[in-house]
Amino acid sequence: MDQMDQAYMEELARVNAALEDALKAAEEANQAKSRFLSSMSHDIRTPMNAIVGMTSIALAHIDEKARVHDCLEKIQTASAHLMSLVNDVLDMSRIDSGRMSLGEEEFSLSDLVHEVAVIVEPQAEQKGHTLTMDIEDISQENLMGDPLRLRQILVNIINNAVKYTPDGGEIRIRFAQRPAPDRKGGLAVWLDFSCRDNGIGMSQEFLERIFLPFERVQNTTISRIEGTGLGMSIVKRLVDGMGGAITVESREGEGSCFTVALPLAASPRKRKEPGLPVGQPVLVAELHDGRAAQITACLRNAGLEPVRLSTGLEAVTRLTEAQYEGRMPCALLLGQELADMPSLDVATHVRQLAGPGFPILLVSSDDWPQIEYRATRAGVNAFVPCPLFPSRLLEALSSLTCQTGQEQQAAGDADADYSQHRVLLVEDNELNQEIAMELLGMTSVQVDVAGDGAQAVELFQNSPEGWYEIIFMDIQMPVMNGYDATRAIRELPRGDAGNVWIVAMTANAFMEDVRLAREAGMDEHISKPVDVERLTEILRKRLGSHTER
Ligand code: ADP
Repeated sequence: MDQMDQAYMEELARVNAALEDALKAAEEANQAKSRFLSSMSHDIRTPMNAIVGMTSIALAHIDEKARVHDCLEKIQTASAHLMSLVNDVLDMSRIDSGRMSLGEEEFSLSDLVHEVAVIVEPQAEQKGHTLTMDIEDISQENLMGDPLRLRQILVNIINNAVKYTPDGGEIRIRFAQRPAPDRKGGLAVWLDFSCRDNGIGMSQEFLERIFLPFERVQNTTISRIEGTGLGMSIVKRLVDGMGGAITVESREGEGSCFTVALPLAASPRKRKEPGLPVGQPVLVAELHDGRAAQITACLRNAGLEPVRLSTGLEAVTRLTEAQYEGRMPCALLLGQELADMPSLDVATHVRQLAGPGFPILLVSSDDWPQIEYRATRAGVNAFVPCPLFPSRLLEALSSLTCQTGQEQQAAGDADADYSQHRVLLVEDNELNQEIAMELLGMTSVQVDVAGDGAQAVELFQNSPEGWYEIIFMDIQMPVMNGYDATRAIRELPRGDAGNVWIVAMTANAFMEDVRLAREAGMDEHISKPVDVERLTEILRKRLGSHTER
C-alpha cells in the first residue's frame, strides 16, 4: 500500500511539474503576445497619425503647392512604413499557418547583392557606420531559388546590425560559395553569408529566444528602436524552408555575428558570354593587393591579359610607351586607391593622353550618383560597383571594347512612346480603377476598362485579334474572378489567346498568389499598391522593343 502511495505521489508530482511547465510556457507566449500587441498598436498608430494629420494639413492648405508637396511626401513615407509593418504581420501568420511556398526561379546573385546594398546602405550611412561587403569564391552567379525571400533574409539581418549598433559602428558582410552535393543531378552550391557587427549584442539567455515570434530584448523596446520582434522569426522560418541553417553568436556590449548557409541549385542556363577582346592586355591600376587580385583573377579567367600597376604615374608612363609603340591595351581599369594620386586625376591625364576613344573604367565602392559628375568630366566611361562580381566587370568591359547596338536601344527605351498600344484594365473597385488609370495614363498607353472578369472575357472576345497587348487583371472580383477570366481567355479559339500578356494585380505579394497566377496562365504579377516603376517595367518589357514612334 505504502509503495503504491509513493508511486502515486511520484506520478502526481511528475504530472504537476509537466503542467507547471506547460502553464509557464503558455504564460510566456501570452506575455510575449500582449507585449507585441501593445507595441504593434503603438507602431501602427504612429504612421497612421502622420497620415491622418498630414492629410488634414494638406486639405487646409490646398492652394499652397510647396506645403501640399511636403505633406504628401510625409504621407508617402509613413504609408511605406505602415505597409512594411502590415506585411510583416501577415507574412508571419502565413508562414505559421503553413501557407507559404517558396518560388524556384532563375536569379543573378550579383543583382541580388547589389539590390541588398542599395537598400541597406542609406541607413548605414545615416548612422555613420562603416559597412563593408566582401565577395569571395563565387563560382556560380546564376542560381535557382526565391530571390525575393532571399533578399528578405539578408536585408532583415543587415538592417538589424545597422539598428542595434550605436552610431559610427562597423558592419562586415561576407558572401562566399562552396560546392554542394548535386541536387536532382544538377550543379549546386552552398551560399554562405555572414554579417558581423560591433553593436549592443545580446545576452546568452536572449539568444535562446531570438527566433521566437514577438521576442525583443527589453531595453530595445525601452530605447524605442523601431521593430516588431518578427523579423528574426520570419528569417528563421525562411532559412529552414530553404533547407539551410542559421546561427548567431553574440556578446552583450561587444557585438553579434549572424551566419546563414543556404543550398541553392545553379541555373542550368548559361548566361550569354559577353564579347571580349580575348588575349589583349588590360591595365589594372589599384594599390590594394586584395582588390587588385580580385580584378586580375576575373580578367584572366575571361581570357584577357591583366597588367597590374599601383600608381597613377606608372599608368601614364605605360600608356605613353604603348602609344609610341602602337600597341595600346584595350582598356584601363582604375581602382579605388592608388599610391600617388586620386584615381580621377589619373583618368584626366589618361584621357588627354589617349584621346576620346580609349575605355577608362572605374572599379570602386564609392556611391556612383555622388561622384558621377566629377568622374565623367574626368573622362571615365563606365563604373563597376564593388562588391565586385565578374559578370558586371566583364559586361562593362565588353560594352566599351566591342560596340553593339545595345546603347541605341537603351536610349530608345528611355523615352518610349506607348500611345500606339492598347491595354485592358480589369478591376472592380472604382478607387483602384482610378489609381491604375492615372498611373497607366502617365505612360500615354491607351486603356480600356472592364469591371469584372466576365466583362473582360467579353471585351477581349469582341476585339480584333492583337487589339490588346496586355491585360492587367485584378484577382478578387464579383461575377468572375481573375484566375477564371484568365483561363477563359486562354481557351478562346483565336490566335492571340495564348500570347496576350496577362498581368495579375493583387492586394498582396505572397508567393502562393504568384504561383496560382502562373498556374492560371498569367505571365507577370504586380502587387497593390501599384508601384509606378514596376508598371513601367512591365510596359517596357512587353512593348518597349517594338515601339512605334
Ligand atoms: P525587431 O523588429 O525588434 O528588430 P527582430 O525579430 O528582427 O525584431 O529581432 C529580435 C530582437 O533581437 C531585436 O528586437 C533585438 O533585441 C535583437 N537583435 C536582433 N539582431 C540584433 C543585432 N544585430 N544586435 C543586437 N540585437 C539584435
